[in-house]
Parts: sequence; structure tokens; C-alpha cells
Amino acid sequence: MRIADMYGGDDAVFSFEFFPPKTAGGEKALRESLRELTSLAPDFVSVTYGAGGSTRSRTIELVTQLKEQFGLEAMAHLTCVGAAPAELTETLDRLEAAGVENVIALRGDPPNDGPFEAAPDGPRYASELVRFIRGQNRPFCLAGACYPETHLEAESAEADLAHLVEKVGAGVEVLITQLFFDNDYYFSFVDRARAAGIDVPIVAGIMPIANLAQIERFTDMCGSTIPESLHDRLRAVADDADAVAELGIEQATAQCRELIERGAPGVHFYTLNKSRATRRVLEALRGG
Ligand code: FAD
Repeated sequence: MRIADMYGGDDAVFSFEFFPPKTAGGEKALRESLRELTSLAPDFVSVTYGAGGSTRSRTIELVTQLKEQFGLEAMAHLTCVGAAPAELTETLDRLEAAGVENVIALRGDPPNDGPFEAAPDGPRYASELVRFIRGQNRPFCLAGACYPETHLEAESAEADLAHLVEKVGAGVEVLITQLFFDNDYYFSFVDRARAAGIDVPIVAGIMPIANLAQIERFTDMCGSTIPESLHDRLRAVADDADAVAELGIEQATAQCRELIERGAPGVHFYTLNKSRATRRVLEALRGG
């Protein structure tokens, strides 16, 4: 099913993001998380494309497995990093042959924090990747990324929004946000996007905090803000892993509850291949 058709009903759409593991231990942990999380019947799941395009085959394999073996609706991430047109075409062929109906088209992050580099003749921006896919008349439902706090490399919030308008105009049907912790960023971003003419669902990307050092690293990399009051509470329990995780669950539950009450069409959980926090948050949301 095309994920764009899932939004707009009475119920919020819940989806989970996974990444293809690199080790046998990671593989085992993912299997365990999948067992727990699939019992929650997510509306769809997605599989990331490693930085630098490093997981191409494993992304395709995992997304296919989730669809075929677990019976889940699935979305493949696809990036422009180092991606030449012939390679993109081959990847899209494989996804289409596997019956994958949803792709999130991204510019992608380069490996090792280097500058982004396109392949010769390859797309430089997600909007160019979207145009490339649309130009091939593929049947995919296409999603794209967006940034309530503005993408770190954008010249300005206005320029970032103008580029987003272009990306949606190229054929993106669903937007998923970068992680954020302060809902005011989301709601004011949605208002600005609507005023700019963007009318596709804007899905909240949520990462329950599990570890303070890790979330500080992530937010440094992606430019999201940890509100000072939340940061203070996390610092106060930083040495107690369980207390941090409980606070993360409490915060994410309250955040999602408000998002849904105030009209967010869905929540996409960045699970990091772990099940506990996502399961607890979703159970709390469904329990009322
Ligand atoms: P774009 O939409 O291309 O934007 C990138 C920057 O270029 C922005 O600053 C934008 O304002 C600017 N820009 C856009 N168009 C133009 C133009 N025509 N002229 C000048 N400037 C322009 N990364 C991965 O490597 N693998 C993944 O699987 C992955 N999954 C993600 C999933 C989600 C939901 C999100 C939010 C992010 C994900 N990322 C992933 C990270 C993402 O690839 C990075 O944030 C990347 O830096 C930007 O990707 P984008 O698709 O938003 O890029």
C-alpha cells in the first residue's frame, strides 16, 4: 500500500524506522526488536540507507524481508550520495521487482562527516532524485525529509522552505520531519509550510531519548534543540541509565500525545533498532 493513502483518516499513523545491522550481534538485536515491535502492528516500517550509500544491498534485503516475511508495509530510504544514474536505476529496479511501493528520497549524509559529493551526472539534491525517479515513470509513492528547525546547511529558514516547496512540487507525497523535542518548532513549521502552499502530510519524526551522550551527539549532528528544562532533567540523572530511559519515555509520550491531539497526522519513530522505548510510548498512546 502507498503510505500517502494512510494519512488523513481519524487515527494517527504510526511507523517505525530501522537500520540494516552491520554485525551478527546487531542482527540478533534487530530480530528481537522486530519480534516485539511487529506485535504492535505498525502501519508501516522504513529501512535507512547507510551514510555514503554504504548499505545499498542490505537496505534492499531488509526492506524486502520486512515486507515478505513479516507482512509489514515497508518503505526504503534512498540517497544521492555517490549515486550515479545507472546505479540508481538498478536499485529502483530491484525495489520495484521486490514489490516495494514506498521510497523516501533523500540527499543523504556523506560518510565520516565529509562534505556531500554527488556522483558524476548524479542528483545533488533530494528534489533532483525525486525528478529522476518521476522521470522514469516508476509507481512508487515518494516521501521526503523536512526540518522544523531548518536544515543545518541551509542559507536561511526561508531558503530551506523554498527548496522544500520545490521538492514537493517535484513529486513528494509525504514529508517526515527530522527529530525534534519541542513541539512549538513542529507546529510553527507546519504553519509556514501550509502558508507556502505545501499540502502533503507532515509526519513527526520522534526519537525517545535513551542515553544523554548519544542524544547530545545526534542533536549536534542534525541541528535539533534539546529544550533547556529537559536537558537539565537529563543531566540530573545522567549516571543512571534506567532513569534516563524512563525520562525519555515519559517525555516522548507527552510529546506524541500533544502532537496527535493538535493534529499531527502520524508519528515516525526513530527506533535505532531498539524496542523498549517505542513499545512503551506506543502502548501508552493507544491506552489513552
Ligand atoms: P535536500 O532536500 O536535498 O536538502 C539538503 C540541503 O540542500 C538543505 O539545506 C536544502 O535547503 C538545500 N537545498 C535543497 N535544494 C536546493 C537547491 N536546489 N539549491 C540549493 N540548495 C538546495 N541520511 C542518510 O544518509 N540515510 C538515510 O536513510 C536517511 N534517512 C533520513 C530520514 C529522515 C526522515 C530524515 C529527516 C533524514 C534522513 N537522513 C538520512 C538524513 C538526510 O539525508 C540529511 O539530513 C541530509 O543532510 C539532507 O537530506 P535531504 O533529503 O533533506 O536533502
